[in-house]
Amino acid sequence: MDKTFLMQEILRLKQEKNAVILAHYYQNEDIQEIADFIGDSLELAKKAQNTDAAIIVFSGVLFMAETAKILNPNKKVLFPDWEAGCSLADGCDPKDFKTFKAQYPDHVIVTYINCSAEIKTMSDLVCTSANAKKIINSIPENKKIIFAPDQNLGKYLQKETQREMVLWKGSCVVHEAFSLEKLIEIYTKNPTAKIAAHPESETHILKAAHYIGSTSGIINFIKTDPSEIFIVATEAGILHELSKAVPKKTLIPAPSKEDNTCACSECAFMKVNTLEKLYLCLKNESPEMLLSEELRKEALKPIEKMLQLS
Ligand code: SF4
Repeated sequence: MDKTFLMQEILRLKQEKNAVILAHYYQNEDIQEIADFIGDSLELAKKAQNTDAAIIVFSGVLFMAETAKILNPNKKVLFPDWEAGCSLADGCDPKDFKTFKAQYPDHVIVTYINCSAEIKTMSDLVCTSANAKKIINSIPENKKIIFAPDQNLGKYLQKETQREMVLWKGSCVVHEAFSLEKLIEIYTKNPTAKIAAHPESETHILKAAHYIGSTSGIINFIKTDPSEIFIVATEAGILHELSKAVPKKTLIPAPSKEDNTCACSECAFMKVNTLEKLYLCLKNESPEMLLSEELRKEALKPIEKMLQLS
């Protein structure tokens, strides 16, 4: 379908149905252009909590649409494609996690927001990469901690907070794909550049970084740091919003180990969403995120604690 037609129809349907479009920074450019709000997990969770719209169209991955529904039981939450999973959420099976958790009965369970609603029901606290340090630091020092499902973020938090943690061995396929060798090659050619990395990246990439932070943290760093060249080690979709914010700065996506067409890392799950699927889901009001009230209420508890703490 024609892009102009899709854009016009989405705008018309949005008004007619009192809908709001929330899109993650990792969505493709067309979706970012039409969205009412672009953000990272924490910003979108807060936006989902505060919207007056009757319908939330969540263009991101499934655990994000779930979070929007958990926070908004009376709103219709739509999303463009069931295939928009996440290697972190999909790699933490509730049955396996229950067995894992049972081995550490006296531990506080902190889960990264990139997990399913069912995993959230088994958690004491949820966090995002933007507030993870604050959440961990809110736990009394005599308490032991399980952190799941991202082991790379967990290792980073152990170092930053000096807290021992039992880690679930999950990872993000995108942030684990960065090549240190290629990163050093680019940096050698651009010695004045600053490297900004997301803490889902592996330890050796984080060691090379000048700045480590969430997606919104990286954006703020690049906006405010006086350097002119930045190598950005997170999903490449962030560059769209960033290049508009800092048109005079040079942004280089950190290279992945694979030789893909753009020489950068893109999340295949995020990129299954298209403008056409967004239009169709708003038009047909499907797929819709539905959760049992029992599951929703249990998953809400650790999210609410996180929102109070952040
Ligand atoms: S970038 Fe990684 S953590 Fe984010 S949705 Fe994709 S697979 Fe999941």
